[in-house]
Amino acid sequence: MQLYNSLTHEKEEFVPVEAGKVSMYTCGPTVYHFAHIGNLRTYIMEDVLEKYLRYSGYDVKRVMNITDVGHLTSDADTGEDKMLKGAKREHKTVMQIAKFYTDAFFKDCKKLNIKTPDVVEPATNCIDEFIKMISELLEKGYAYIAGGNVYFDTSKLEKYYVFNDHDEEDLAVGVREGVGEDKNKRNKCDFVLWFTKSKFEDQELKWDSPWGVGYPGWHIECSCIARKHLGERLDIHCGGIDNAFPHHTNEIAQSEAAFGHKWCNFWFHVHHLNTESGKMSKSKGEFLTVSLLEERGFDPLAYRFFCLQSHYRKNLVFSWENLENASVAYKRIISKVAALHKDGDTDADVCRALEKEFCDALDNDLNTSLAITALYDVLKADTNDSTKLYLIDRFDSVLSLGIMEAAEKLREGGAENTADAELVRYIEKMIEARRAAKAEKNYQEADRIRAELAEKGIILTDTKNGTEYTIKH
Ligand code: AMP
Ligand code: ZN
Repeated sequence: MQLYNSLTHEKEEFVPVEAGKVSMYTCGPTVYHFAHIGNLRTYIMEDVLEKYLRYSGYDVKRVMNITDVGHLTSDADTGEDKMLKGAKREHKTVMQIAKFYTDAFFKDCKKLNIKTPDVVEPATNCIDEFIKMISELLEKGYAYIAGGNVYFDTSKLEKYYVFNDHDEEDLAVGVREGVGEDKNKRNKCDFVLWFTKSKFEDQELKWDSPWGVGYPGWHIECSCIARKHLGERLDIHCGGIDNAFPHHTNEIAQSEAAFGHKWCNFWFHVHHLNTESGKMSKSKGEFLTVSLLEERGFDPLAYRFFCLQSHYRKNLVFSWENLENASVAYKRIISKVAALHKDGDTDADVCRALEKEFCDALDNDLNTSLAITALYDVLKADTNDSTKLYLIDRFDSVLSLGIMEAAEKLREGGAENTADAELVRYIEKMIEARRAAKAEKNYQEADRIRAELAEKGIILTDTKNGTEYTIKH
């Protein structure tokens, strides 16, 4: 598999440290609020990566942290603790907030068919591990104490900006954005490993440490949780692109300083989901959540389909119209699958060819959009239904669009499903008639069919995957 590595800025052949095994670490959510669908885009794409590695035969161990302490309102460790901010907002304790939003996160993941990682570890469980690594960094001269806090000394590193997409200028902007520069820092990119004093004295959760009662910085938690469960060498570390700097840069700095060797080989960063007006944010009042999608009548899996239609290394723009289009295409796949019935043996040659198409797509830096084209190609293939059903089931073990379950439901047919299915069947029939008319060069008839559908608010578009349609409400 070729995977883009943010560290080298190149697609590389994925080779794990230990043959057949993959250690994979994922930055988990900061549980001070609901996840927005941008956060969930990142988890969806990471889920596909994990599932595809398993599909390819690897024994994957995936670990994720839950950030329930230490993440400040600015990633450059200034500002209020996000958890404390959430607790104040809802007049609850930090632990109540953490529990509520951790549960909410996993409920969202379940709706999106995102598998729970093998290990999920809240940061507040690992204070001893943080203290151990911070002590090692102090002993080795990579950390210093100033103003009651312990800082990582970035000047001790040969190279700090490992991802190369940030420089001092960028960081200076980051600092200006925050609450104010920390005068204790020897170098402006130094970061806090352990706080005993911050501008915000009322931090609720505190622990004893060799440096006084306090709490850990955000970055140290991921290095330590990864070490606790995956050892000192990682194959893949994942996160959203905004995590690359400063969070992942700092994780690499402290892990490699503590271990004395390279820590992680592949860095997998998912680019952002943006709204038409720009960056998606939780601080801008109402934000987009899975519940909001459901309130608007969307199946969360239609959102997963929407995400898979584009490449993880491209920014993706969310709009209700874009989601509607994805939702119609998704329903169409389900209705096509619902029309299939087991009818004999699978055709081994067809399976081989189409599985190759599917794997070629995902082997090429997880090209999920082409993997979906492979799914369409199964539906279009000149083969029996059993073969199609077998392949769709296989592909969906990676894509996790719940196609077989949804198709089964449709076959069983509730009233609502039947109405949907009837409409889809009608549109399919018209699209097929239009295709046949075009094949016979009867363009008048083809145009008439297009116009008949348009009158009913059904708009056709010809794409590389055949004719698609959208329904205007
Ligand atoms: P947080 O809960 O803020 O720690 O973020 C959880 C994950 O979502 C991290 O991996 C972030 O990098 C990622 N993330 C944040 N905003 C977006 C976005 N707009 N699109 C995609 N991923 C995001
Ligand atoms: Zn992290």
